[in-house]
Amino acid sequence: MSGGFDLVGIGMTSQRTRNRLVDRLREKGIHDETVLTVIGKVPRHIFVDEALAQRAYEDTALPIGNGQTISQPFIVALMTQTLLNVPRERVLEVGTGSGYQTAVLATLVRRLYSVERIAPLIDRARERLRAMKIRNVHIKLSDGSLGWPEQAPFDGILVTAAARVVPEALKEQLAVGGRMVVPVGEESIQQLLVIDRTDDGFEETAIESVRFVPLLSGTVE
Ligand code: SAH
Repeated sequence: MSGGFDLVGIGMTSQRTRNRLVDRLREKGIHDETVLTVIGKVPRHIFVDEALAQRAYEDTALPIGNGQTISQPFIVALMTQTLLNVPRERVLEVGTGSGYQTAVLATLVRRLYSVERIAPLIDRARERLRAMKIRNVHIKLSDGSLGWPEQAPFDGILVTAAARVVPEALKEQLAVGGRMVVPVGEESIQQLLVIDRTDDGFEETAIESVRFVPLLSGTVE
């Protein structure tokens, strides 16, 4: 783990509810203790609107404005544990959203690059990460299906919006030995794919049925 961060506004109650969430994730099959520890520490309630804060430690997706959602904690934990099965120094996240998954990943990797297409979401995510004193994240406003070519190659790529097909640019920006975790499929249901880049090409495995908001092109100021 790359250092500590400030726990923002955490009382005993929210620590207890967070511990309950961790127990629930363990029951559901999350076995990576490092990931569980981080989920137990990151204050998810600061990543949602105040009106929803009391629901922040339920294992559900919640609205974050601009028609988007903060992902379900189980899915965040599953994607993180799958992506970081080996240490990955440079990681690209597509779909910053609330910044919750960003905060979880940032705690576990050296350098995190995150791309989001909706500007107001970036502003809010940046504020929250600053409040947590997380400093190893670079966020840019862009269409993440194009990746972040100037910072490539990445040891890990995590996509948190559903693609119809795996974006070619993301495959190109994956290092040999690297891994991408990406939901792919129709609008109503997708498969969470794990794509490993080897010397010989790409290997794909589907690990879970999921439902994410769609990966869209263009940006919103
Ligand atoms: N991990 C985030 C998930 C947010 S939902 C969280 O837990 O808060 C998915 C996010 O992907 C949304 O914020 C959406 O705006 C963003 N997104 C969709 N298509 C995108 C694209 N092409 N490039 C970058 N971000 C995109």
